[in-house]
Amino acid sequence: MNTARHFDIDDSKANHEIMTALNDVKLLRNLAYINGKWVSGSQFSPVSNPNNDEIVGYFTQLSTSQIVDAVDAADHAFNSWRKLQADQRSEYLFNWYQLILNAKQDLAHLMVIEQGKTFAEALGEVEYGASFIRWFAEEARRNYGETIPSHIPNAQLSTIREPIGVAGLITPWNFPSAMITRKAAAAMAAGCTVVIKPASETPFSALALAELADRAGIPAGVFNVVTGKASTVSHVFCQSDKVKALSFTGSTPVGKLLLSDAANTVKKCSMELGGNAPFIVLRDMDIKQAAIAAADAKFQTSGQDCLAANRIFVPKEHYDEFIHHFSDLVEKQVVGNGADPETTVGPLINHKAVEKAQQLLNDALIKGATIAAQSSTPSEGSFFPPTLLTGVTTDMAVYREENFCPIAAVLTYEDLDQVIEMSNDTEYGLAAYVYGHDIHNIWQCLRGLEFGMVSVNSVKMTGHPIPFGGMKQSGLGREGSKHGFDEFSEIKYCCLGALPTVSGS
Ligand code: NAP
Repeated sequence: MNTARHFDIDDSKANHEIMTALNDVKLLRNLAYINGKWVSGSQFSPVSNPNNDEIVGYFTQLSTSQIVDAVDAADHAFNSWRKLQADQRSEYLFNWYQLILNAKQDLAHLMVIEQGKTFAEALGEVEYGASFIRWFAEEARRNYGETIPSHIPNAQLSTIREPIGVAGLITPWNFPSAMITRKAAAAMAAGCTVVIKPASETPFSALALAELADRAGIPAGVFNVVTGKASTVSHVFCQSDKVKALSFTGSTPVGKLLLSDAANTVKKCSMELGGNAPFIVLRDMDIKQAAIAAADAKFQTSGQDCLAANRIFVPKEHYDEFIHHFSDLVEKQVVGNGADPETTVGPLINHKAVEKAQQLLNDALIKGATIAAQSSTPSEGSFFPPTLLTGVTTDMAVYREENFCPIAAVLTYEDLDQVIEMSNDTEYGLAAYVYGHDIHNIWQCLRGLEFGMVSVNSVKMTGHPIPFGGMKQSGLGREGSKHGFDEFSEIKYCCLGALPTVSGS
């Protein structure tokens, strides 16, 4: 098999592993995609497979001027893309959506190899990510303005929505495909052009989306993917007057840096940041069922999910029963290579993440927590065992921080007011879970929880039709749903007055 056309560097054994996993090897790209062309920087950086630490391949590091070129290309393409009819933009997006679905097995394989998640999770993410493209392809046709009853005699008042311009998108590694499509589809449907900077751990999923966008005929300059040093790319986005919107998904500390860097050019910023989700088990809940749901909400994507149940609150009198059932579930987890169909929990993204998880565990143990259950892990790769901690207190880092690993922290509570207060005792406000029956108690939680998304009796809460986003330091703005357009549109108010009739005319 000739890989030279797609790879400038011999990527050895691991590259061979990808090549044999893919039906369509041309989906594996290592150059950046700018203005409809594959562009090389002067340097390349490796990407490791967290399942076994092997190098999967190399992606190119662009220079500042190449990133500026990408912004210029997007700015140039904006002039024509914005003028297309909504139906035409919709058509391009549908083509892209269909190509992604046709390639979903390959895209999932790529994701498993660079991100580590299980194949089922990866396939689910590709489909979830594609669903945003279909949604916004449909919504493009319904990007309505409004008419306003006039307070000015004889005037017609209305608003129209206009695309904001070039959008700079920066995305994380935990959802390497869906975090791109959730932003890019909304932006492109609204009439914007995009320059995307994927996480350095997972560039190949992003570059495969670019290959498919190219095949879908999306015009040059509308969809660009740049790779390189994060601070270099983000600084170009933040400082450029041509970039009118900055949309970031990632950690809260980096979000704050970007907000401050972007202040100078007063651009529209949307931020999807970290979470510290509470999972509240109400008194009348079946405890075994609650444990199953909590484990599901904790261990998805190996705990590396902004929606992961970070703090699990159980009524004091049900604590022992809950721990019994949850321990069982921890011991049943199959930790291993994401490519193995038996695996339920894959690796963490890298060894740094494993060290961070170990630090959180040590901090909790020093402060008095106990390991009630722990599964085993393979010896190679970036694995951390699913772990159940009891005796967790509010001063522990595992409670305070977004732990982003498979450590489940369980606490007790006495009454509803207390558990709502404890749940809100965090600077984060992304998502919360409530499990129970009594509608009065559920309603009290729905109203009292300071979180952008509250899910009752369901671990699955996200999807294309819902407004995804957080309160407090979990972010600004919403993605998906009809609100997803807001981050990439300007509302223009139009006052159409009537000239007085000139006599004799
Ligand atoms: P991260 O470290 O903040 O990185 C996210 C992106 O920002 C990556 O592309 C990264 O590039 C870039 N970046 C890192 N440092 C930067 C800097 N100093 N200046 C400019 N850009 C920088 O986050 P992560 O570890 O990838 O992702 C995990 C975080 O994302 C968690 O906090 C999670 O909760 C959050 N998240 C939130 C949502 C949501 O919808 N609210 C969804 C998913 C994830 P490099 O990779 O090149 O460093």
